[in-house]
Amino acid sequence: MEVIKKEQDEALLKQSQKNMKIHNFSAGPAILPDSVIVEASKAVENYEGKGLSLLEMSHRSKEVAGFMDEAESLVRQLLNLGDDYAVLFLTGGASSQFFMAPMNLLNENEKGCYIDTGAWSAKAIKEVSNFGHVEVLATSKETTYNYIPKNWTVPSDAKYLHITSNNTIYGTQFHDIPNTDALLIADMSSEIFSREIDANKFDLIYAGAQKNLGPAGTTLVIVRKEILGQVQRNIPTMLDYRTHISKNSSFNTPPVYPIYVCLLTLRWLQAKGGIKAMEAHNKKKAALLYDEIDRNSFFKGTAAIEDRSLMNVPFVADNPAHEAAFMEYCTANGVSGIKGHRSVGGFRASIYNAMPVSSIEFLVSLMQNFKPE
Ligand SMILES: *Cc1c(COP(=O)(O)O)cnc(C)c1O
Repeated sequence: MEVIKKEQDEALLKQSQKNMKIHNFSAGPAILPDSVIVEASKAVENYEGKGLSLLEMSHRSKEVAGFMDEAESLVRQLLNLGDDYAVLFLTGGASSQFFMAPMNLLNENEKGCYIDTGAWSAKAIKEVSNFGHVEVLATSKETTYNYIPKNWTVPSDAKYLHITSNNTIYGTQFHDIPNTDALLIADMSSEIFSREIDANKFDLIYAGAQKNLGPAGTTLVIVRKEILGQVQRNIPTMLDYRTHISKNSSFNTPPVYPIYVCLLTLRWLQAKGGIKAMEAHNKKKAALLYDEIDRNSFFKGTAAIEDRSLMNVPFVADNPAHEAAFMEYCTANGVSGIKGHRSVGGFRASIYNAMPVSSIEFLVSLMQNFKPE
């Protein structure tokens, strides 16, 4: 009898787990809109009724070339980009941009300046000395990157200033875009298309797709064309932005399927009302969560309040001994991907564009119902 009862319980549990909605708070690869997942799956079986899977279609076909153009043009529309910018879908992740930027922009005797706001900034900084000089103008490393340094100036001999506009691990964000006479570069991997930002202030923007735009496998690069072609070194063909500009991101076989899923997300974004509407949606979600963190005595936020990110919300248990219990409570209730980065500990809720308000409300209800022993 005992055995049968146990088996029945397990079957019931399995069934309820199968039906349980999973709320995906992962930092990346991250949540995508439900409708995008459905359409992306259809394209794997049969792309728009053509009888072919998109996975087996040539990147030179008119269908693929057509949707790559559409993706580029949606990026241009959403960000109000002028013709002086190129929009590229590259491979190698945002991490390859850490070296491609200085390789394409910096002569050996020139200087790239950086604000060190986290582990991703530090990785970008590490690459620069392969190509030229590097200067770190400010860092918040001494306090585990929990704020954005404010009082710094860009030296007059800087070729460019590089910022990580949203810090995925630490949950901080530049709310003011720096003004500088140097070229302005931003790693926007974890916030691209999440808030209104004047893209025309930047000379180079890059973003790995897998945080807020699509699946892993492609990196969006937006570059002001006139800044290229000014370095003396020989740049290997595949690492030269101009190669990809002249061939519309199809010099070699591009990551067709990831780019298609990005396109589906861009269409979704536009249908939702574009970036203005998305920013309002994101502000509402972030306010719900931060309000609960500030109200609930069991939890506390880790980032400086004035620098809090709209996209990544790190928090810890006020009593670290309660963390395992809250993590278990989350897992049992279908909250996934909420473990904090090891350098910060605790929890991190990544609440990208595709995250619905209802999932935030659900997490808040778990925080409210949590009663540690
Ligand atoms: C995830 C992330 C990266 C690394 O992206 P890859 O595509 O994995 O190379 C770089 N910068 C930021 C801000 C990120 O969040």
